[in-house]
Amino acid sequence: MRQLVICFAILLMSSLLWAQPKVKYAMVIHGGAGVMDQKSMTPELQEEYIAVLNRVLFVGDSVLANGGTCMDAVEKSIVIMEDSPLFNAGKGAVFTHEGIVELDASVMDGKSLKAGAIAAVRDIKNPVRVARAVMEKSEHVMLSGLGASQFAKEKGFIPVDNAYFYTKKRFQSLQELLKEEREATVNDKHGTVGCVALDMSGNIAAGTSTGGMTNKKYGRIGDSPIIGAGTYANNETGGFSCTGHGEFYIRLGFSRDISALMEYKKLSVAEACREEIRKLTQLGGTGGVIGLDKMGNIAMEFNTSGMFRGFVKSNGDKQVAIFK
Ligand code: ASP
Repeated sequence: MRQLVICFAILLMSSLLWAQPKVKYAMVIHGGAGVMDQKSMTPELQEEYIAVLNRVLFVGDSVLANGGTCMDAVEKSIVIMEDSPLFNAGKGAVFTHEGIVELDASVMDGKSLKAGAIAAVRDIKNPVRVARAVMEKSEHVMLSGLGASQFAKEKGFIPVDNAYFYTKKRFQSLQELLKEEREATVNDKHGTVGCVALDMSGNIAAGTSTGGMTNKKYGRIGDSPIIGAGTYANNETGGFSCTGHGEFYIRLGFSRDISALMEYKKLSVAEACREEIRKLTQLGGTGGVIGLDKMGNIAMEFNTSGMFRGFVKSNGDKQVAIFK
C-alpha cells in the first residue's frame, strides 16, 4: 500500500512538473523582414539596429523578471521600436502614395483571447498603446482612421502632427517608387515591429505595429492590425507576430493557421511556423514570423534574406540576429 502511495506521489509530481513551463518567462521580438545584404548595410547601421534590439530585450526581460505581465512586456518593447526611426513603425514609418503616414497595430491576450487593433491612423505616436486601450477600454476589437483617433483622444492620448513621422530615408524610398511607378514589395523595405512574451503566470501576449508598405494607396490596410493574420495569441498554443507582404498573410489567415497547426496537428511552434512560411512561399509571398509556445520554445522563421530579430529567456538564453 505504502509503495502504491509513493508511486502515485511520484507520478503526480512528475505530471505537475511536466505541466510547468520549462522556463519561467521568455520573449521574442522582430523588427521586420526583407532583402538585406551585408553590403548595403554598413557595420555602423548594423550596430545601430543591434543596439536597439538589445535595449528592447533588456527592457522586456526586466519587466518579466520582476513579475510583470506579458502584455506590459509586449507594449513596452514595441514602444521602444516605434520611437526609433530605424523601424517601419511609429517614428520611422513608411509613406503612403499621398506622402503621409498611416499606421496599423494590434495586440492579443492569449489568456482571455481578447484583442485590440487600430488601422490607418495618422496622428498616434505609439499605435500599440492605443491598440491595447481598444482591447481594455472599448467593447470593440478594431477601430480605424478618424474614429480610432477620436477614441484615442477620449482616452487621454495626445495626438501628434503627421509631420512628426517624417524621416528623410522613408521619404526618399517613396520618391523612388513614385518615379518607377510601381507598388512596393517587401523587397523595398523592412521594419514592421512585433513582440511575443510568456510571463511567469504562464500567460502569452503578442503585438505588432507597422507603417505598412511604402506607396500604399486607397486606405490600404495590411495584416498587422488583423487578428489571426499578423497577430495571434492563445495560451493553449502560443503567440505570433508577423512581418512581410501583408496581403498574403491576410489570405492565409497566417498566425491563426499556425495556432491551428499546433492545436490540431500537434506540431511544435517551430514546425508550425516553418509550415506556414512554406505556404507563404508557395503563394509567392515573402516575409517572416516570430512565435513562442507555453513552454517558452521560440521560433523565428522567414523566407527573405534577413529579419531583425532576437529573444531572451529567464534561463539567460539570449540571441540577436539580422541575416539568415
Ligand atoms: N506586414 C506589413 C504590411 O503588409 C508590412 C511589413 O511587415 O513589412 O502592412
